[in-house]
Amino acid sequence: MRTKIVAGNWKMNLNQRESLELIDALKKSKFTSSAQVIVAPNFTALSACSEALQGSGIGLSAQNMHQSESGAFTGEVSAHMLEGVGVSTVILGHSERREYFREAGALLAAKVDTALKHGMQVIFCFGELLADRESGQHFDVVKSQLKEGLFHLPEDAWKNVVLSYEPVWAIGTGKTASPEQAQEMHAFIRKTLANAYGTEVAERCPILYGGSVKPDNAVLIFSKPDVDGGLIGGAALDAIDFSAIVNAI
Ligand code: PEP
Repeated sequence: MRTKIVAGNWKMNLNQRESLELIDALKKSKFTSSAQVIVAPNFTALSACSEALQGSGIGLSAQNMHQSESGAFTGEVSAHMLEGVGVSTVILGHSERREYFREAGALLAAKVDTALKHGMQVIFCFGELLADRESGQHFDVVKSQLKEGLFHLPEDAWKNVVLSYEPVWAIGTGKTASPEQAQEMHAFIRKTLANAYGTEVAERCPILYGGSVKPDNAVLIFSKPDVDGGLIGGAALDAIDFSAIVNAI
């Protein structure tokens, strides 16, 4: 049985006080599923959130990090700094980082290496643009994103990697991939992984879906055999909606 995961990406929303309020509400929620629940507040709230989450069973993730260990990189945050405030997971390759900060290929591969070297779990995001899907390139695009960011890793490193397929046309748009489209792509991703690393790695690796998951579509999406949970943006900012999504798995 693969680990099921539901992670909330809070993006550039909520200051420290608001983040703590949301954590408080989440701690009062009744999670009935056995999924691993993770939240990803912004950097300024991580330390306080880390303390607030102690003993709650909810994991803490950063939304990004720099690939270097330390140095003259004004405004950046390192894996060592994240470790220091109790962060054990990092989201890398999110489409907003790819689009607005031009993160791709070798840079993401370097970030993955640094995070894994520090013993962190990586939630690696990738997915095609609408134009890629409309021109039938979506499988090729996803395969190259996986190759460029992850296929240099040794087999053993995969125990700390979670994949998150996020079709860019579905993120924050209210348009979600149909459960069948999600399953089709997740099965393709698992097959691609099996071809590169063998079935054991492929069968063990959780593949999340992200893109306008809401309480009313989560059950159907999560019912698909290769969908192991979700990366949730907008709906993760509301404790009731997020809990409903967690409980949908
Ligand atoms: C995301 O940011 O990863 C995401 C899936 O956002 P949303 O759920 O709002 O589409």
